[in-house]
Amino acid sequence: MTHAAEPSPERLEQELDHLLQRLSRTSLRKGDQLDQLALPPARKPVYLLLQDPEPAQRLAQQLEFFGLSARPLFDAEALMAALAEQMPAAMVMDVDFGGPERGLALAAQVQQDLDKPIPLLFFSLHETDTPTRLAAVRAGGQAFLTGTLEASGLLEKLEIMTSTAQSDPLRVLIIDDSRTQALHTERVLGYAGMTTRSLSDPIRAMAELADFQPDLIILDLYMPTCSGPELAKVIRHNDRYVSVPIIYLSAEDDLDKQLDAMSEGGDDFLTKPIRSRHLITTVRNRAARARHLKSRMVRDSLTGLYNHTHILQLLEDCSFRARRESQPLSFAMLDIDHFKKINDRHGHPMGDRVIKSLALFLKQRLRKTDFIGRYGGEEFAIVMPNTALEAAHKVLDEIRRRFAEILYPAQPHDLQCTFSAGVVQLDEELDALTMASAADEALYRAKHAGRNCVVRVEP
Ligand code: GH3
Ligand code: MG
Ligand code: MG
Repeated sequence: MTHAAEPSPERLEQELDHLLQRLSRTSLRKGDQLDQLALPPARKPVYLLLQDPEPAQRLAQQLEFFGLSARPLFDAEALMAALAEQMPAAMVMDVDFGGPERGLALAAQVQQDLDKPIPLLFFSLHETDTPTRLAAVRAGGQAFLTGTLEASGLLEKLEIMTSTAQSDPLRVLIIDDSRTQALHTERVLGYAGMTTRSLSDPIRAMAELADFQPDLIILDLYMPTCSGPELAKVIRHNDRYVSVPIIYLSAEDDLDKQLDAMSEGGDDFLTKPIRSRHLITTVRNRAARARHLKSRMVRDSLTGLYNHTHILQLLEDCSFRARRESQPLSFAMLDIDHFKKINDRHGHPMGDRVIKSLALFLKQRLRKTDFIGRYGGEEFAIVMPNTALEAAHKVLDEIRRRFAEILYPAQPHDLQCTFSAGVVQLDEELDALTMASAADEALYRAKHAGRNCVVRVEP
């Protein structure tokens, strides 16, 4: 038996470099004069603290290709000087930077002096033991990578870390017929950095939920038009809000009554008067955890993009908001061309790689305010708030053009692939569902027009 077909690690690395070089040529560069919309917002650099300068330089270069600025630093003094100059978006620290386990101590020392910790990822060339991992956690590490540091894997991790670090404040909806009580709760949670809204009429709860999308609900037990437990049941009847935590806040101190309320869709019961710290901690923990669980429910595991159900929900939310604020909204559907052939000729794993790379490409090229979903196998959907049809078309066409230039290393020839897209703008007649099917129809027309193009639905 021979292993002639098995490429060597060096060959694979060459291929990766080659791919990244190609990708770099398809990406935006400093001098590019492009529509504002196509440019991702200016990003802070990532500091790379690795033992060997050469791989660090190479990694920085590769990250740069993906549109992320990375700065390799080679000793503790250089790090201190860089920090004094500019705070990074994140740090990637070799546990052995500057000597065995010295990286851990250095990171801990850096974090100690900061008000807001820097998102920190530890790296170790070799598998590590639990004490080292524990030390990494204690030094404030949010992720740990071992083995070979490779740009797209690292980028994926960094993206998750930096997006949670700068995530929106937790949102809490307070439903209480007493304005004074609601105002007090709002003030306490507001001081703790949460965003709140309060509602004195429980009948308006569902509209408020849809609009505000809270991470947690604080509910009064006794209200004139409907009781807290009744409202909790109504909320739970909507699939969308089955897992939003509901916490009762009431002066009721009869344990039986508390337990009855809890059994009707409530998650916790807090008794007034309550110390601010107690309220803040309970609300923050539950809301953060609920948000985390939700993000796992609404995302696709291969690409990390929103799944089919959720992207449609987002389209609905956004069209509601766009109408209310009289802002334009565009929606696009993308489908990779002749994807079956890629699977047939190069295997399913290669197909998966193409899907992932398009996902990454879209994330890097679109604005942070756009929502990207994996609609089906090799289909994607994009919701673009505050974007009129022409601008949306222009951005997508630019992405299409650049994506088509990527060469994926494969045998016997490198492979290239393209996508087709349909794009539509919200108007009087279109609701979210009709919008989706109009975009789908435009996509179908793009396929029939010969693929590798973007078709827009003129209003
Ligand atoms: P067209 O240009 O008309 O879109 O042609 P196509 O071959 O891309 O279209 P079609 O929708 O018929 O085929 C899509 C194929 O994508 C079928 C399916 O086997 C494959 N596919 C779906 N999901 C995945 C996935 O997660 N990974 C991989 N590798 N392939 C997938
Ligand atoms: Mg296809
Ligand atoms: Mg398809």
